[in-house]
Amino acid sequence: MLKPNHNYSDLKDSYLFYRIAQKTRAYVEKHEGAYLYRLGIGDVSLPLCDEVIKALHEAVDDQAKKETFHGYMPECGAHFFKSAVAGYYQHRGVKIDVDEVFVSSGASDELGDILDLFDKSDDALVIEPAYPAYVDANVMAGRKIVHLASGKDDGFTPLPDKNIKAQLIYICSPNNPTGAVFTKDKLKKWVDFANESGAVILFDAAYEAFIEDEDLPHSIFEIEGARTCAIEICSLSKTAGFTGTRCGYTVIPKELEREGMNLNAMWVRNRTTKTNGVSYILQKGAAAVFTDEGQKQIKANIAVYKRNAKLLTDALDKLGIWYCGGKNAPYVWMKCPKGMSSWEFFDLLLEKAQIVGTPGEGFGSCGEGYFRFSTFGSPEDTAIAAEKLIELLSE
Ligand code: PLP
Repeated sequence: MLKPNHNYSDLKDSYLFYRIAQKTRAYVEKHEGAYLYRLGIGDVSLPLCDEVIKALHEAVDDQAKKETFHGYMPECGAHFFKSAVAGYYQHRGVKIDVDEVFVSSGASDELGDILDLFDKSDDALVIEPAYPAYVDANVMAGRKIVHLASGKDDGFTPLPDKNIKAQLIYICSPNNPTGAVFTKDKLKKWVDFANESGAVILFDAAYEAFIEDEDLPHSIFEIEGARTCAIEICSLSKTAGFTGTRCGYTVIPKELEREGMNLNAMWVRNRTTKTNGVSYILQKGAAAVFTDEGQKQIKANIAVYKRNAKLLTDALDKLGIWYCGGKNAPYVWMKCPKGMSSWEFFDLLLEKAQIVGTPGEGFGSCGEGYFRFSTFGSPEDTAIAAEKLIELLSE
């Protein structure tokens, strides 16, 4: 009898989005024709920018001609794509080698696949509230999870402490769901901790493009010492609207070694065995994001989401409700009013204001009593939702 991976039995039901969908459906069934203001999901609503579309069209045409046709692409990424990414880092003063960049089909794929590099006996540290995939990918791999709670007191950006024994450390900054961003000083503490303990940091930078404060780090490689302890996983999903198009990149420094094994070389071996890379067409489209015009256009789209964030944070300011995020991240993370639980507040917003958000408790138990708004929705709906919020909560 074949033995399935029994670790799957240890997965908890991913009930958060299921329960939201159930409650929302029940509301719509009861209130025929009701319009809902959807501030729940973290999917983008604006299309790809013109520069990307142009590059995608050109790449499709290349594939139609013998002279410009591309077959298999290099597994770790086309040189033109990897150098576009390296140039993007260089622009911010971070020097990375082209061969330290790996193309991916997105951060989710990579966050799961990268676990191949590590031994199962090492524990994974997940700072909560957290993007649920970190926990689930490790449970599937049979790795033990150490949960580190964060909260209002540490600004949802906690520091390491000596009792932490985990060797694989997840840091997501700007954070989903809290929108909090680690400062350089705080990241330095984690980098020092990892170098001293031999841990490796998996730095999820999926939302780096939303950072607007000059002194906040976009990349862990802005921190001295990170090249010997960190892997950075990034995505064009939210940066450039690639959620349905799929492309991302991972940076593994050549200095990163543990027990005499080089993680960059191991990942080359992994990719050349387990993938045949990302299509020429997609890499061409993705490389266009890093051109001057591409950057201008994606920033214009991000500005739309930022205006949504401002509508929500202005409303919360007016109501005197505590929140974080919104400024350097596409999520606003608020304290539920009047001591309500996350789900109580979800029900209130749905019933009384037809607004759908995400209960914080779904991102880990320390998210209880908090609530997440996504700013990726339509500006018109977000504006109405912000007004409805003020109306409802100033009662
Ligand atoms: N990391 C974080 C923190 C996310 O919030 C998401 C998606 O919401 C991802 C990774 C996955 O991104 P991708 O679309 O590149 O798989």
